[in-house]
Amino acid sequence: MNGSEPRPWLEDVEIRLLQPYQATKAYRCPGCNRDIPSGTGHVVVLPREAPDLRRHWHKGCWALDERRRGQPGGSRR
Ligand SMILES: [Zn+2]
Repeated sequence: MNGSEPRPWLEDVEIRLLQPYQATKAYRCPGCNRDIPSGTGHVVVLPREAPDLRRHWHKGCWALDERRRGQPGGSRR
């Protein structure tokens, strides 16, 4: 089970950037499993078909994940 796990929320998603003043609650980032404290600008990933399943990511974690997906056969160790 390496990297082949289905992640439907990444198929057709809308990416939104949340400004620090918009982040009024703390969230859990699925990228690193750590909290995103309120007042921290971050990324909201919104599945078009399931808006209820939106995820909140650190900007850095999302960028990392995006890069990982965007580079097939990239650094894979
Ligand atoms: Zn994170």
